[in-house]
Amino acid sequence: MVSDKLAKLLILQDRDARHGQLLRQRASIPAEREKARASIAAEEARRKENVAALQRLEVQREELEGRVEDLEEAIRKYQTQQLQVKKNEEYTALEHEIATARAKVSETEDEELNVLEAIDQKKAANERDEAEIAERIRVFETELKRLDEAEREVETAIEAGRDDVAAAEADVDPALLDTYRFVKTQVKRPPYVVPLKDSRCEGCHLKVSGEIESGARKGHEIVRCDNCGRIVYFDR
Ligand SMILES: [Zn+2]
Repeated sequence: MVSDKLAKLLILQDRDARHGQLLRQRASIPAEREKARASIAAEEARRKENVAALQRLEVQREELEGRVEDLEEAIRKYQTQQLQVKKNEEYTALEHEIATARAKVSETEDEELNVLEAIDQKKAANERDEAEIAERIRVFETELKRLDEAEREVETAIEAGRDDVAAAEADVDPALLDTYRFVKTQVKRPPYVVPLKDSRCEGCHLKVSGEIESGARKGHEIVRCDNCGRIVYFDR
């Protein structure tokens, strides 16, 4: 059993620790929110890229269609010219142009068929993707709502915790409270009040001097670890 004074200080330390934990919890929320938002943005970018990729294929198809039309126009022109030429070799040359253009038409139409197939596949893939994207966005949006709720809850708990800490502080012996507050400014990490175990401070795990240990055993005065400065006590 520890002394009554110390028991009250330990209650304060406990509430302080709880309060600190809540503050850290609140501090972590913005980063989590940012992460969820970034994930939503990534999904939206993916959706946009899917639409753009389909549009690029459509443009490609239109270009090929335009090329076929141009070639057919050229063929009609050559055929008209054939009606007007006098020399045999000129007629043959035009015949050759027509044949070349027709070969190109057939080649371009094959290309167009490939693009059409690619468009169908991309449409189907986009549809499948869209279902997954929408589902993932829904999950991240739920996460955002959960974070808003968690933030409100932690805010309320912080408010209540502040009162609990104040109430515990009011209960602690003033001299002990002063020392506790001073130790908090000196020691980097909690706990600030620790038991001695096998003559070792449970904060820094180093052996304290015999004087410190016997002071802690007596339990009348405030004793601090001669290595780390934490308040130490002897728990019988
Ligand atoms: Zn220590």
